Amino acid sequence: MTALTYRYVALTDVGLRRSNNEDSGYASPRLLAIADGMGGAAAGDLASSTAMNTLRTLDRELDTDALTALEQTVRTANTRLGDLIREDPSVEGMGTTIEAMLWDGEKLAVAHLGDSRTYRLRENHLTQISADHTFVQSLVDEGRLTPAEARTHPHRSLLLRALLGRDDNAADLSWIQPQAGDRYLLCSDGLSDMVTDDHIEQALRADSIDLAATELVGLALEAGGVDNVTVVIAEFLDADAPVDPDLSSADGRPQLVGAAAEQPRPPTEQAVTAAPPPDLDEEELRYASRPPGRRRRVRIGLGLLVVLLVLAGAGYGAYRWTQTQYYVGTDGNQVAIFRGVDVDLPGVSLSSVTEVTEVAVDTLPEYSRDQLEDGIPAESRADAEQIVTGLGDLVEPTPSPSPTPTKKTSGAPEPSSSASSRS
Ligand code: CA
Repeated sequence: MTALTYRYVALTDVGLRRSNNEDSGYASPRLLAIADGMGGAAAGDLASSTAMNTLRTLDRELDTDALTALEQTVRTANTRLGDLIREDPSVEGMGTTIEAMLWDGEKLAVAHLGDSRTYRLRENHLTQISADHTFVQSLVDEGRLTPAEARTHPHRSLLLRALLGRDDNAADLSWIQPQAGDRYLLCSDGLSDMVTDDHIEQALRADSIDLAATELVGLALEAGGVDNVTVVIAEFLDADAPVDPDLSSADGRPQLVGAAAEQPRPPTEQAVTAAPPPDLDEEELRYASRPPGRRRRVRIGLGLLVVLLVLAGAGYGAYRWTQTQYYVGTDGNQVAIFRGVDVDLPGVSLSSVTEVTEVAVDTLPEYSRDQLEDGIPAESRADAEQIVTGLGDLVEPTPSPSPTPTKKTSGAPEPSSSASSRS
């Protein structure tokens, strides 16, 4: 079997009726994921972004098989939701769907929980791979409802299972073996509720996945856009296929959209000062394809506004929560472990360096540097240290003619692992 790789894209839109986006989407060379939060106002955002930021910790070299790692991480996300609900009863009832695919270089480990969906387009034919964890789907399974009746059933969004911070809701786990030419679509119900499978199939056949994503979101909005709509698409192809420079994934950077991109997370310093221009056209903000750099700054600018509102509302509780978070970022040219979230408000610092490591940022591959710029979320201090160790293994050999070894102590460069991490 020939080696495969994939192109990817993530796109979200708040829709036409909702004021905030409770969906999160993520796409990178290793991980594809959607989390559709629920629970109203801030709680849905929080559930979605908590789950997504936990899932994102999978986007690195793993020391276990992908399905085991995925299962453990979904459990961790569930535990975190449970902790947040215990700490703040006002978010009781919040939850999120999980749709995640983790690429191990040969096949996809898949986790599915709730009513977000995974579709596959193979040889121009669309198949829904996931089975909704909904009341109406259970009626369809029992033969008491046709799929067409299910589409319009008044209780079609009633979930039987979701990530709720409790012990009784496990994700479906499976492996998928992609083939060259396959396109996989992960979507929130803001798409699948509004757009029929036939139309999804047509849109997914577009010349490129970037066009398909724009088309799919556009279709959901044309149909009424009553919910947040999020799509993540991956297209598999032979590993030696040329990179298409026109695609958004050509730069190899992770794409994070929706609630998780707007919640507190470590932005770059330049991003902190880059507020959205006052005459920002909302429509343009949602649709226009533009260089990732600008899109990211705009997202973070809006994110800061959300942070300010959240902190104003939640005060000390929110501050305490930030101090249970860790991430790996940069301190000058050194990789550093931070505690908290990297947003400084007037008179309040929400993060601090707990350790400056010996790993120099400029010795790392570009992909890792980009991740560090965004901040790599960690589950704990120990996890952050493990991430740093992993980064140390990616240190690229210095082209310097000097025979002096670099002062890294964290192991010899491993070009092979570095190469596979960016496949
Ligand atoms: Ca939804």
